[in-house]
Amino acid sequence: MALKTALVGIGKIARDQHIPAIEANPEFELVATASRNADVEGIPAFRNLASLLGSISKVDCVSLCTPPAARHSDARLAVEAGSHVMLEKPPGTTLADVQELASLADKSGVTLFASWHSREAASVRATRDWLQGRTVREVRIDWKEDVRFWHPGQDWIWQADGFGVFDPGINALSILTAIHPRTLVVSEASLSIPENRDAPVAAQMLLHDSEGTKVSVELDWLNKGSPKWDIRILADDGEALLRDGGARLLVDGEETVSGPDREYQALYERLAGLIASGSSDVDLAPMRIVSDVMAVAHREVAPPFAW
Ligand code: NAP
Repeated sequence: MALKTALVGIGKIARDQHIPAIEANPEFELVATASRNADVEGIPAFRNLASLLGSISKVDCVSLCTPPAARHSDARLAVEAGSHVMLEKPPGTTLADVQELASLADKSGVTLFASWHSREAASVRATRDWLQGRTVREVRIDWKEDVRFWHPGQDWIWQADGFGVFDPGINALSILTAIHPRTLVVSEASLSIPENRDAPVAAQMLLHDSEGTKVSVELDWLNKGSPKWDIRILADDGEALLRDGGARLLVDGEETVSGPDREYQALYERLAGLIASGSSDVDLAPMRIVSDVMAVAHREVAPPFAW
């Protein structure tokens, strides 16, 4: 029988990806939504999760598509009600927030899935396989897009707990930490923060690992024109370039892997698998890098930002 699923926070990602992915997967059935201002046609709608859980007799699964800071209390509520929970990325505001949820889910015997959609991009696994047995000297990440195009009017993203340019940038870090075999440590970092906002519009950082691999990361939210979501890996015997957010892999300039975008279909397949096996998946490695950057970064004041 399909898992009765509630979706919370009906905004851009819920409409663009979660609803189509749930509809396409017979293991899930969308039974209700909770959103302060938005509904999905034909689906029972509630203004908050508490009233949803109080009205619908059995909710197997709650998928949270709200901004990170709004997610913790709902996740707690859902776990305490005995529902499995999927979290959008980044899974929370602080590491401890998410660790606390993970132990609560564990005690309650439900699945907690901290999803990282970019890890499901078509060429990420092939890149990890290409890296096996190779000596990597350097990794260069460029993650540059236009915030006005990709996040129009999303004021939450500029709050201190909204992650700023790390909202997209953490996608790159989620791929990096999935393909790189060793822990990455932040060596130095700098942030540009608009004088009228609390979160960065650009960031640069250098990371290293215990074998001497160096990783440089440039995040920029004022990039005009086509976005650049690239990870370039320089190994002793060749170069891999993961383009378009993980969709395409070029090895020594030749495209070797590409495929359709089915990141969210893959996330819901993974969620079904975790629930079936009674396990959770909560990997905080991408968030830990952001947290460490925030701890050491030099701050520069940037011009005020207006939509
Ligand atoms: P969004 O368009 O702003 O939608 C989020 C929705 O959550 C809002 O429409 C709002 O609906 C609800 N909400 C509840 N509490 C809120 C609060 N305190 N502040 C603002 N909204 C609140 O954002 P989104 O782009 O869907 O992003 C949501 C999450 O998905 C983020 O963590 C983001 O990183 C992730 N994500 C986004 C994308 C993307 O392309 N946009 C891609 C992948 C992942 P109500 O007003 O009806 O409550």
